[in-house]
Formats: sequence, structure tokens, C-alpha cells
Amino acid sequence: MQNQDINTWLETAREFLSQIDNYQISSRLEKQLTSSDRALFILHDQLNLATFPKELLDRKPLLIFVESLAYATAIPHHKQKLVYMLSAQRHFAINCYQKGFLVFNLFTEEFYADALAEFLACYPNIELTYMQPSEWDTRSQMATLANEFGNRIKALPNQFFIADAEKFKPKIKKGYRLETFYRELRKQTGYLMQEGKPVGGNWNYDKENRKALPKQTIIPQIPEIKPDPITQEVIELVQKYLPNTFGKLDKFIYAVTRDRALELAQQFIETRLSRFGAYEDAIKVGEPFLFHSVLSIYLNNGLLLPQEICEMAIAAYKKNLAPLNSVEGFVRQILGWREYIRVYYEAKMPDVRESNYFGFDNKLPQLYWDANTDLLCLKDAITQVLNYGYSHHIQRLMVLSNFSNLINTDPRHLNRWFWLAYVDAYEWVELPNVLGMSTFADGGILASKPYVSGGNYINKMSNSCSQCKYNVKEKTGETACPFNYLYWNFVDKHRESFTENGRVSLMVNAYDKKAENERQEIHQSAIKFINEILETT
Ligand code: SF4
Repeated sequence: MQNQDINTWLETAREFLSQIDNYQISSRLEKQLTSSDRALFILHDQLNLATFPKELLDRKPLLIFVESLAYATAIPHHKQKLVYMLSAQRHFAINCYQKGFLVFNLFTEEFYADALAEFLACYPNIELTYMQPSEWDTRSQMATLANEFGNRIKALPNQFFIADAEKFKPKIKKGYRLETFYRELRKQTGYLMQEGKPVGGNWNYDKENRKALPKQTIIPQIPEIKPDPITQEVIELVQKYLPNTFGKLDKFIYAVTRDRALELAQQFIETRLSRFGAYEDAIKVGEPFLFHSVLSIYLNNGLLLPQEICEMAIAAYKKNLAPLNSVEGFVRQILGWREYIRVYYEAKMPDVRESNYFGFDNKLPQLYWDANTDLLCLKDAITQVLNYGYSHHIQRLMVLSNFSNLINTDPRHLNRWFWLAYVDAYEWVELPNVLGMSTFADGGILASKPYVSGGNYINKMSNSCSQCKYNVKEKTGETACPFNYLYWNFVDKHRESFTENGRVSLMVNAYDKKAENERQEIHQSAIKFINEILETT
């Protein structure tokens, strides 16, 4: 970005609040700030005043928002993610102003803490409060700022999660699995509990939740929110100044305010929750959302809170609007998985960032950037990501991560891709999912086995194989589904990680029972495919 462009962005960042009557940053600050004033910094993923202490808000602190170009461009985030983060923050700032807060919007080419340091130097009598950031780097930068400004800065614990990370952190080690954590959280919150026991008699209903989608199923479409003038202005900014970042911006459909996000949550409860459970692992070509809530986008920047979403789903169950398998499955995604991976992140950062258990060093193939591939399951998932910054969890796990692992991609490259490509991705959420679960890069601390499979799994759960150039029934050769020979090649090459696990050690035995010529064909097909794909990367 050129200096002139930065100046233009700076002007829009300063001026966007001028849509509110009488808003003038410097003159109001000079008139209204006194020696006893306290400022509260609100980060782009902390957009919910309900999480801040009431006593602090009652004193009507100056609310500081920062638009950080360095954060926005540290990796080439999806254009829709940039629009979402910035537009949601601007809407929230305006909403705070309308509630009677004095609001200060800073723009910086550097990181958040750099802008705050400048601000604190300009206004030596102001004390600053902030909530601990969820992401490691921003937290470290804020800690440095706190050291520099001493008792003028106060940090609040992060209130955007249900579990007390400090309590659970020591438990995160090999063998401490989701299920144990989840049961503890169910007991702690009382969610879906009755007299100390799980409602319905079981802790989970996974067996009812692995259905493929019947052909004629009508899928309710998620509402598309039309961008308002503020979002439209941000879309134009991103299109003009950050045109080379990932993804498309032809259409932006997400909510950017809490009120609209709550409406979407209610709409999910009424139209999709009842079938979410049964079809949560299903894939259909051209259908990115199916029965998924798509609420992670709003949960992960604070517009919605995890407790309220769980409670909305549980209320629907109590009113017989949704069956237990769906409601429990949905609650487990939030109360179980989302909370568990966040505690894992807290326990394992920063060393976990360098995890690479298998020592893979291949680059992430070009097809992850442009969807240019004949493997239809991959093409479909990546097209959805390019168009929406979203694909659902089974595509993330069993298509995108599975394939990356099978062709021996450095998991840190995949990790970076997930971080930049998804609108709902922040490091605390995507890193455990990628390095812990899907690629087994941490060596089995988070997951009990590598999540790899051949084409059969994708064929069972999707309609993509019947339309694909490759034949899912063929095991080796030019027209065979590449997932098939890549999978068996992986099982053979990494047999130690399978034989440690009773469930998947069967696959090593199955491989060893194959005829010698078939094993050779598997190996040759895999090498040829991987070499060809790397040549185009
Ligand atoms: Fe994917 Fe293989 Fe099925 Fe094609 S045949 S859609 S590559 S699993």
C-alpha cells in the first residue's frame, strides 16, 4: 500500500464516525478528558459490552478502537474476513457512541499496541484498561505495552469463554480427551443435565449423527444480509487497497451487528437445528451451509456469546422444536469442542506453533489458492472458501486437511492457510484444529489418531464422487481416486502412529495383507501424484 493510499484509509477511519452528529475526535477529547479519565480498549474480537465489568462501564470510560493495518496484512486474510472484522468493529463503535460513550477510533499502520502507546504518550493522565486478547501475538504486544506504561494500564481476564482456562490448562496432556473435558463442563454449567445425570441417559448421540443427506432433502437457505452503507464503504476500501488478498468479494452476506446475528441464531434454531445433528457430517456439492448454524463467525468476535447460544438450543429442545441428538451435538460443538481447543491453545502456546510430528516439508499445493483441480470434493470445498470464507467442519477435516496430510504438506503451511482463509478463523481456534486434530502434528496430544481416510469415507458422506472425473472404486492408476492410494501409502509410511492406536492399527494389518504388486502400485501411484501436484505448486 502506498503512503497516499494509507492517508486515504486513515481519513475514512477517522471520518466514518462523523456520520454521527457532533462527533469530532480531537476537540471532544481535549474538552472532555480530565486527569481522572479511564479509557477502555476494545479489540476487534471483543465486540460485546456485556463481558466488561459493569462498574467500569458505569463510569463511562472513553472507548478506544484501533484499526491496525499491520494486523490486517500480517497474513493475506480473506477479503470477506477483513470486511467482516472492520465493519463489525465500526458498527459496534457507533452503537457504543449511541449508548452514550465517548468513542475514539485510531488507525495505525502498525499493531494495536503501537497505536495505544502513541495515544498514552499524547494523553499522559489517562489510564487504560483492556481485556486479555485471545490471540497470542496481540496478547504479547499488550503485555509489552503494560510493562512500558506500568500502573497506567490494567488487564482484565478474557470473558468470552465458558471454561476457566487456568483450571484446565494443567490437564491438557496426552490422553486428556474432549469427552472428559466436555462432561466436566456439562456438570459445571448444568446444560442438558438432570439430577446430576445427562438428559436422555447418554453424554453424546454421535451414532445418530453420521447420516449422509438423502437425495431429495430440501435445504433451508441461510438469510443473506444486504450490506448497509458502512459495510459498503468497507467493501470498497478492501477492494481498492487490499486487492491481492485471498478470496472473492463479489457478494458479502454476513451480519455485522449483534442484533442481526441474534436474528440469524434464532432463524437457525427454527429452521435448521432440528436436522443439524443427523446431517452434521454430510457434504453436498454446491451447498456450503447445509444445516450448520454458521454462528462461529459471530461467536468468535463476541457479537454472540457461547452461553446464550447453548441456552437458545436447549430451550428449543425443551419446547420440542429439536431432537436431543441435534441439540446435544450442537451444544457439544460449543461447550465441548470450542472450549476444549481454547484451553489447549492456552496450555500449548507458543511452542505448539512449530509442531510437525511427521516432519512433512511439502508446500501447500496451488489448488488451495485457486480451486483449480479435478478432484471434485476438493474443488467444491475450496470454491466455497473462495466465495464465502467458509466451509463446514467435515470439509475442513476430512477433505481439506485429509488431502494436505496425505500429500505430506508441512502442517504449518496448512495452518496458516486456514487462519487466513476462513471468516471465523483466529489463531486460538484454527491452530488446535489443524495442528492438534486434523494433521496430528502435535503427535497425539489433542487427537488419538491421524484423521486420514481414503475416498470411501467421502463417497459415503457426499454426492461428489458420482460427479467426479476420478473413480472412487478404483484403488490405483490414472483414473483411480487419489485419496485411495494416497491413504494406503500414508498408512504404510507412518505405520507407527497407527499401531499405537488399537482402533486404527487394523488398517496397518489390512495394508500388510495386500498382495506385493498392489502395494507397489499404491506406492508408485502415490509418488507420481505427489510429484505432479508439487510441480504445479
Ligand atoms: Fe474426491 Fe475421490 Fe470422490 Fe473424486 S472420487 S470426489 S477425488 S473422494
